[in-house]
Amino acid sequence: MTHLDDLPLRDDLRGLTAYGAPQLDVPVRLNTNENSYPVPDDVVEAIGKALQDELRDLNRYPDRDAVALRADLAAYLGHGLTVANVWAANGSNEVQQQLLQAFGGPGRTALGFTPAYSMHPLLAVGTGTEWVDGHRGADFTLTAADVVAQVEETGPDLVFLCSPNNPTGTALPPDVVTAVLDVAPGMVVVDEAYAEFARPGTPSALTVLPGHPRLVVTRTMSKAFGFAGGRLGYLVADPAVVDAVQLVRLPYHLSALTQAAARAAVAHRDGLLATVEAIKEQRDRIVATLRQRGLTVADSDANFVLFEVGGDQRAAWQALLDHGVLVRDVGLPGWLRVTAGTPAETDAFLTAMESL
Ligand code: PMP
Repeated sequence: MTHLDDLPLRDDLRGLTAYGAPQLDVPVRLNTNENSYPVPDDVVEAIGKALQDELRDLNRYPDRDAVALRADLAAYLGHGLTVANVWAANGSNEVQQQLLQAFGGPGRTALGFTPAYSMHPLLAVGTGTEWVDGHRGADFTLTAADVVAQVEETGPDLVFLCSPNNPTGTALPPDVVTAVLDVAPGMVVVDEAYAEFARPGTPSALTVLPGHPRLVVTRTMSKAFGFAGGRLGYLVADPAVVDAVQLVRLPYHLSALTQAAARAAVAHRDGLLATVEAIKEQRDRIVATLRQRGLTVADSDANFVLFEVGGDQRAAWQALLDHGVLVRDVGLPGWLRVTAGTPAETDAFLTAMESL
């Protein structure tokens, strides 16, 4: 049998492990921050019709620039944005990979603030970009002074901020983003995969886009829209940034079926986004209940909660799994992350937690 080590793999990929949240078949899956609610019937029907309408033309390549979908996404976002400000790809992971291909690469560096989204460093490595691991305060917050000092020290070609941050749930005030923009020598990417779940009073970095051509906000339909299986992420930025990622994107990267399904989903956004308030309720219930039980819990503006288990998190993860509840061990000693889903899933999780 041939082993990976036997192949002429790039030196910087040797010894690495692929991204892999376990995909286990258990009753309660709260480990990848998906939306637990299935797609409603009327949206299933609309997507089905949209796909059907595309089928006869599958002999042709799709719109390479996904113009209609990007216009729909711009209209959803508001803020005076147009199709020229938006770029879409197969998940925000692909968008971020394209940003690293365009603005990172060999001899360049990207800075992020651990703990944050674990794919950022992996995407950096995959594109030959050197990753610099910055740090946060003990309560996971990131102050403007903290970030500015680390950006000035590193001088990165890209800064990755994540708001609300995965896995901590912490949102970043826009003045932190503007402080970083003032000192960063390169691009500043704000990953807002969970923006729709933010509590009132936490404005998006979209509000600071005007006049900041090196700011990029990435979003996804995987979470609030409940469209993770559809694979659609996008960025919002100055039109020049959209020109830049078009230099590295694969031609026809978004299939005609993906574009059609995503457009139907955006058109039915009211039905899809109706779950957001219900999920926020469960998130707040998890935070309040675990705190009542004396656990330390991070504030969350997302659809998940990071909580301290008061011991070895691997043992706690296994104990919850033994009760049919799959949560996420993000590798933070003593902490686990749980996705907020349906009320029944919260019940199952909170009951399983009593066994710890
Ligand atoms: N950013 C963050 C912070 C995430 O947590 C995730 C999903 N786990 C993504 C981006 C990627 O989402 P997708 O590629 O499905 O758009």
